[in-house]
Amino acid sequence: MRSALEKDVVWEEPVSPRFEMARILLENRDRTVFFENVEGCDIPVAGNLSPTRERICAQMGTTKEDLIPFVLRAVENPLEPVIVEEAPCQERTLKDLNELPVLTHFEKDAGPYIASGIVIAEDPEYGRNASFHRMLVRDGSHLGIRVVERHLHQFFTRAEGRGEPLEVAACIGLHPAVLFAAAYSLPLGGDEMALAGAILKKPVEMVRCKTVDVEVPAAAEIVIEGRLLPGVREDEGPFVDITGTYDIVRKQPVLEVTRITARRDPIYHALLPSGAEHRIYMGLPQEPRIYAAVGKVAKVKNACLTEGGCNWLHGAVSIHKEKEGDGLAAAKAALEGHPSMKHVIVVDEDIDIFDPAQLEFALATRFQADRDTIVVKGVKGSSLDPSAAEGAVTTKVGIDATKRLDRLDSYEAARIP
Ligand code: MN
Repeated sequence: MRSALEKDVVWEEPVSPRFEMARILLENRDRTVFFENVEGCDIPVAGNLSPTRERICAQMGTTKEDLIPFVLRAVENPLEPVIVEEAPCQERTLKDLNELPVLTHFEKDAGPYIASGIVIAEDPEYGRNASFHRMLVRDGSHLGIRVVERHLHQFFTRAEGRGEPLEVAACIGLHPAVLFAAAYSLPLGGDEMALAGAILKKPVEMVRCKTVDVEVPAAAEIVIEGRLLPGVREDEGPFVDITGTYDIVRKQPVLEVTRITARRDPIYHALLPSGAEHRIYMGLPQEPRIYAAVGKVAKVKNACLTEGGCNWLHGAVSIHKEKEGDGLAAAKAALEGHPSMKHVIVVDEDIDIFDPAQLEFALATRFQADRDTIVVKGVKGSSLDPSAAEGAVTTKVGIDATKRLDRLDSYEAARIP
């Protein structure tokens, strides 16, 4: 993490991890804040590590215009990690979770939550998996962990079937490329650390943990080793998700800590729930899927999940239109490419999809609702949309705001010679 860390704001005053740091991160939402002095804790905190699309693209060695082809190339050319014997992340051992400056973010949160942690686990058949999981500090040696029904859930279910705990390691303080890779939806069996290596153009150095049979990035700031306890579920939540509203309380697994290792002088990474960085790590890794889906039906130029749509519920796609019908076909494909997306706007390639004013301009001057809309009723959308019906049932809308090919001259943008 520290090689990518830019301290836009250095906060020297003592701050409390209970609400105060979250408020400062919200007020500085597009800047990295480095808290030097955390009340009751020796470990400094870096928050908003990748606060903008431009910043994370630069940290990964690309640009927002080229992000999708850059990521797709890396996905196709994974670079296996290498194992090292000595690692910075094992320079010292911490006593318990109370030594970490874990933030309590919002009023109704269940307690202090680790939101920047990547959980790594291994399955005898599928190999390694790395993924983001929010973790609630229950006491000095137990974390409540939200495990959505994806790969870690499958690993844990299989371990439980064998009557065993699942050994895991939660890593905090990683390079943005490693975080991005862990947030990317590789198929089951794909190694997110090999994707991280491909993005970095350098294999990720991994080290074996001290108490569990798991390898972790050697450069991590902090590593929490432990196991998910079989047959144990406890209340987890409320916790704020990307829309800035509260996610519900569920029965979820418990991570029992066996050891915490760290660098000699670790930095804790704080990630504000619903903040820009949360949305970036959730939304950006979905964009290549949208791009690929649209690419099957039209000549796609770029695709994104827009900031106003929480980088999750709204998409914008630009295409090189070749025939009438391309716009609506692209809209339909985009909605299928990212099933959580509720509204998508398709525009011509002269429109900058990262500029909300340009998207609205296309809507204002190139769109007729009766002709250029598809409405998909009663389908499963995002559980994060508070307006959705029971079971996340929603109505999706695709908008074709591209120029009509038979009247191109009427769209001519006036120029001053
Ligand atoms: Mn995976």
